[in-house]
Order: sequence, then structure tokens, then C-alpha cells
Amino acid sequence: MLIMASSPAVLIRLVASAYSIAQKAGMIVRSVMAGGDLGIVEKTSSVDLQTKADRLVQMSICSSLAQKFPKLTIIGEEDLPVQEVDQELIEDGQWEEILKKPCPIQYSAIKEEDLVVWVDPLDGTKEYTEGLLDNVTVLIGIAYEGKAIAGVINQPYYNYQAGADAVLGRTIWGVLGLGAFGFQLNEVPDGKHIITTTRSHSNKLVNDCISAMNPDNVLRVGGAGNKIIQLIEGKASAYVFASPGCKKWDTCAPEVILCAVGDLVQVLLVLYHFGHSSKLLYRIFESVHNSTNSTLMPHFPHITSTICHFAFCSIRRSNTYEVVPQNCFNLHFSNHWQTD
Ligand code: AMP
Ligand code: MG
Ligand code: MG
Repeated sequence: MLIMASSPAVLIRLVASAYSIAQKAGMIVRSVMAGGDLGIVEKTSSVDLQTKADRLVQMSICSSLAQKFPKLTIIGEEDLPVQEVDQELIEDGQWEEILKKPCPIQYSAIKEEDLVVWVDPLDGTKEYTEGLLDNVTVLIGIAYEGKAIAGVINQPYYNYQAGADAVLGRTIWGVLGLGAFGFQLNEVPDGKHIITTTRSHSNKLVNDCISAMNPDNVLRVGGAGNKIIQLIEGKASAYVFASPGCKKWDTCAPEVILCAVGDLVQVLLVLYHFGHSSKLLYRIFESVHNSTNSTLMPHFPHITSTICHFAFCSIRRSNTYEVVPQNCFNLHFSNHWQTD
């Protein structure tokens, strides 16, 4: 009897497309830089920039996804005028290796219209304009019922300091319940407490919080995606950024990659977004210092699971992360992320 293989679940097909689309995005990021004209525009300030690469990549990702998955809700960082998208920017491929993976049972019946995609076409734009190229990532995060469940990160300049023969760029991807792939999982050397944080959005509070954790070393690098890669590859033990500023398109894909390996490596995303009250932040840090619960984080034993949970919740609840409808690529607007 001939048994027809059933088609992969929509989540798997979407991740397989996002992988190919993220690879094309990486090529666009490199070709804009090679072209020499970055077309830099200041958005809210001199550290909040947009380049031609941010614009082209967003058009490429959002249009490619919308063409293949017309019922998705797609939200991109950049506010772009509605315009005809050049066919050259469209990527139709799907990464075969991902199509062969089984969909975690809890996601196998999800419908296309229930998924939300958060797109950061270029994370670390400031660093891109300054030639700190390995800080740059392209982030495609997938959320369902308010939770980040799958993500793809392309790092266009991975290997760029490894010599002329090195292959440039890589794509990391993950699905909760399936795992994270495309990198070598590592831990920081035993006993080392290394914090990674922003290099271009620092202030007194950000620095005070880092000092309060008494680290051995502090890495100041650009990009939320880049900092999560440092965690999973064992270059840093915690990501601490006590400030508003990161948006859901910054955190959606990285959070999935981190959570998908979370049981294997004791790393932690510590993004504090208490934009409204620095007093609250200090109160929490005080309670962290007084805490005796040290199960979650051997690198920073005074950080508890409660505080981590709080940090994640505050990312999702903060008004800073309200999505403005005009950034929503497909017409229907969704609040899926806000449900928890
Ligand atoms: P960073 O760690 O400074 O590279 O920031 C990571 C991501 O969050 C980047 O996409 C930044 O644009 C964004 N971000 C962080 N802080 C701010 C801020 N104060 N204003 C605007 N964007 C920010
Ligand atoms: Mg970003
Ligand atoms: Mg960006």
C-alpha cells in the first residue's frame, strides 16, 4: 500500500522558509556594505539609526513571508512606505533539512493565522555603520499565543576576521521542544562571571546594575542577537541591560534560541525593562542580593528564577513594546504577544 507522506506542519514550513529568507537577508546586508553607500537615516536619535540594508532586508523578509504565508501577522521594526517590492528581493526557498524535522506535538495543529512573526531586519545597526560587522544579526522570531516559540538568526559577517578563505555568515535556528541548531554550544570557563551588555545605549543605571553583580569581566557589544550568541557559545554568562529600548523584534528570536538550550547550558537572558521606575529596579536588585535561592544560575548565584521570570514578563508587558499598526505588514493586527 502506498502511504503518502503528509505535508509538514505549518510551523515547520514557516521556519524552513524563514531560514532561507534569513540567508538571503544576510547577502543583502553584505551587498549594501560592499556597495559603499549605507544611506543612513537617524530615527529617534544619533544612536537609533536606519540604513539602506535595514530597509531592503525588511522589504525582502516581509514580502517573501507574506507571499508564501498570506494569513500570517508580520511585524517589522522599520516604518516603511507601502511600495511595490522588487522581485529580486523575494526568496521562495525552504531549507530542506528543517522540512524533514518533526513538529513538536503541541504545535502541530497551529494554523497560519494564529502565528505572529517579529522581524528585526538588522540588529546592531549602529555597529554596522561603524564597521563592527560581527555584531550584526538578522532576527526572525515566531510567536504563538503570546509566547516566542521559534526563531531564526542570521549573522551575515560570522567569520569575517578568519581570513580570505573563510565562508562568511551563518544561520542559527530553533523551535521550543525541538532544539536549537547551527552553532557550537559552549559554557564560560568554570568560575568566571562574564556579563555582556550594550555598547551604545549605556547609562548610569545600566552600569550600576552591572557593578551590583560584581562580574569578573564586562563585554560591551552591539545587538541583542549578538549578545545571545555570546551566551550560547560560552563567551558570556549573563546578558544584563537594565533599560528600556529592546523591542519584541529584538527579543523574540533570541529568546527561543536561549530557551531551547536553556537546560543544557546555564545561561540566562537578563533584560530588565523597568523604564518607568529606577526605584523598582534598585528594590529588586536589593532583594536579589538578599536572596538565598541559588538554583538557577551558578554563574551568578544571587539571581533567582523569580527575578528572571519578572524580567521576561516586564519585557512583554511594558508599554514600550506596544506595536504600532503601521509597522504591521499584513493588514490584520494582532495582540498575541500581549496575552501573558
Ligand atoms: P544594544 O545592546 O544597545 O545594541 O541594543 C540592542 C537592541 O535594542 C538594538 O536593536 C537597539 O536598537 C535596541 N535598543 C536598545 N536600547 C535602545 C535605546 N535606548 N533606544 C533605542 N533602541 C534601543
Ligand atoms: Mg534590534
Ligand atoms: Mg534593527
